[in-house]
Amino acid sequence: MPPANEPARIHELRRLLEQANRAYYVDAAPFMPDTEFDRLLAELAELEARHPELADPTSPTQRVGGEPIKGFKQIRHAVAMLSIDNTYDESGVRDWAARVVRTLSGESRGPGGLFGAPAVTFVCDPKIDGVAISLRYEKGLLVHAVTRGDGTTGDDVTHAARVIQPIPLRLDGTTTPPPEVLEVRGEIYMTSAVFARINKDLEDAGDDTLANPRNATAGTLKNQDPKLIASRRLSFCAHGRGEVSGAPADFAPTHTVFLERLRALGLPTSRHAVRCDSVDAVIDAINRFDTIRRTLDHATDGMVVRVDEHALQQRMGTTSKSPRWIVAYKYPPDRTTTRLLDVLHQVGKTGKITPRAVMAPVHLAGTTVQHATLHNYGQIRQKDIRIGDSVYIEKAGDIIPYVVGIVPEQRPRGARVIAPPPECPVCNGPLEIEYAAGPESPESETSRRCVNPECPAQVREKLVWFAGRKQMDIDGLGEKTIDLILTQTDIPLRTFADIFHLHGHRDTLISLDRMGEKKVDNLLAGIEAAKSRGMARLLAGMGIRHVGDSTARLLARLFPSLDALLQAPLPMLMPRALNKEDARALGLPEEPGQRPETGLGKETAPAVFTYLHSPAAARTFKALREAGVEFASKDYAPRESRPVAGDNPFAGKTIVLTGTLDAFDRTQLSERLEALGAKVSGSVSKKTSLVIAGREAGSKLDKANELGIEVWDEARLLAALDADQPD
Ligand SMILES: [Zn+2]
Repeated sequence: MPPANEPARIHELRRLLEQANRAYYVDAAPFMPDTEFDRLLAELAELEARHPELADPTSPTQRVGGEPIKGFKQIRHAVAMLSIDNTYDESGVRDWAARVVRTLSGESRGPGGLFGAPAVTFVCDPKIDGVAISLRYEKGLLVHAVTRGDGTTGDDVTHAARVIQPIPLRLDGTTTPPPEVLEVRGEIYMTSAVFARINKDLEDAGDDTLANPRNATAGTLKNQDPKLIASRRLSFCAHGRGEVSGAPADFAPTHTVFLERLRALGLPTSRHAVRCDSVDAVIDAINRFDTIRRTLDHATDGMVVRVDEHALQQRMGTTSKSPRWIVAYKYPPDRTTTRLLDVLHQVGKTGKITPRAVMAPVHLAGTTVQHATLHNYGQIRQKDIRIGDSVYIEKAGDIIPYVVGIVPEQRPRGARVIAPPPECPVCNGPLEIEYAAGPESPESETSRRCVNPECPAQVREKLVWFAGRKQMDIDGLGEKTIDLILTQTDIPLRTFADIFHLHGHRDTLISLDRMGEKKVDNLLAGIEAAKSRGMARLLAGMGIRHVGDSTARLLARLFPSLDALLQAPLPMLMPRALNKEDARALGLPEEPGQRPETGLGKETAPAVFTYLHSPAAARTFKALREAGVEFASKDYAPRESRPVAGDNPFAGKTIVLTGTLDAFDRTQLSERLEALGAKVSGSVSKKTSLVIAGREAGSKLDKANELGIEVWDEARLLAALDADQPD
């Protein structure tokens, strides 16, 4: 495309991507496949890099996350975010509605008010189980996002809101001009599918799982790294108003119209909001939604009922605690009770011991449940759960059954205290126990791990994991085969390397039940093929704490081989978290934003580093290497690497650098250009072929212009260097 059309294309792409986003999140009528969206987004990013003069903080490319923030600013709400009164049954809703009518008709019995009770219309809006947020738009632009906090002041989470796709950065003024100031209240939440995926990743990495989607949402918003927040794919639904000023008088006379306006402006609202002419219609809507809400992809725990007409809301006013014109009906949770029969102490592949409840089978929200997680031994103590107790169970995010608590009055005589295992229940090895509030508070215990690396329970789980499809993908080495070898033969199979020596035991394997020659040869071929899966899968397969498959891939992008990773000093594992001095010492740019995108966090990096340099890891790596397993990375994608080739725009040129370059360290850039075959010179002359001018370029730039030498700005340099990157 000729450069002249690029600005037009930038605007076109921005509009198109905004429309696609809106169609997806607000209208639920997507017209663009995700792959196409990603492709256009990449095109836009490329064009924007070439045109820094067209930078726009509301561009769809700005939603992938910038730098982590440091701490939270407090912001005062223009209009307080009051809490809503709850009611738990039909009569509570009827009482509230009667009070509303009485208050309003009491007023209307004043002078001239002889018409009896006014006709009050209500709106029912689903109550999503998430985190309440207030978004402030000024002149149509998102200026900040604030949590409820204490209702008066909340945390500034604008960095998070900016990367939550359904939250528009700019309101759509096509049909409704946005008010001067529009404060929208809504709920940020996580879908069940995203919640399940995150918990699976945490579990795979041996980390603690999250209790439910609401906690996961709150935790995500508290995170200071927008990239992580973006990856969590949070959702948003608008449902209320804060300050609205500079709007036409008919902007939102009722809540129903307000919701319509929000949709027109590009803000998602619930598709299940309904207007009701009477309290009977309200009760009906509540009951109907109880069926619908079980089919939704996110948790809802109630129905918010409010007076539709804004003027009537104003007249009702608020108590010190909550508005009088609104009430939340809460559905009873999907909860049931059953008898706790036993507790199993399961040892996972990282040695973590998880208490698992065995219960009398019971029906709960569509499935029969007889196992549930008890999370950890701290919780068992806090809730005083004993074997024999009647326990309440619920499903977190409508998926994972867990024990909420006990019914104390139903405790049978002889209920047994659940003793945490003092040693590993499988190998009797020593345990490492962590407490949130120190060992003097046993109820704060968060984890209990077997630290014996030879622990057979861990060994089995580790081997199963290592051979798994997402890790080393060893064809023919499933759970059953591993158990068969472990229990029916004397073949040594304790370490990962042992897998690669199984070919020496072909005859024994063939003699096993249900194996046979064909299956065994298939298995051995699968093992042979696994030797060249590459660094990412190998690391993921080792089941290192904090290193799931995505983290492993990330490390493999950062280092060309496992050996390079093992030689790297700790800071190289977390390039984004380095201070300027350390970065410089390692030859990385001083600005974190210019360092490699990948890397571990400040907390996980030291733990992973310690493991990689432990004697146990050294033994494992040595044995794997000797067994012929390859350590090279298949994902290595450093920013700085490139072939030394003649086929690039810099080869053979004499280049002068001048002014301040934001993305480059001058010395490094010179080296890089020289590696591409350029000669970097200090002064401009007739021999100069190209001048790269950063900010505040002075006399050298003037001279270049005088001599008619080609001049590039930094954006063009960046684009040219990027185009030179190997795929
Ligand atoms: Zn053990």
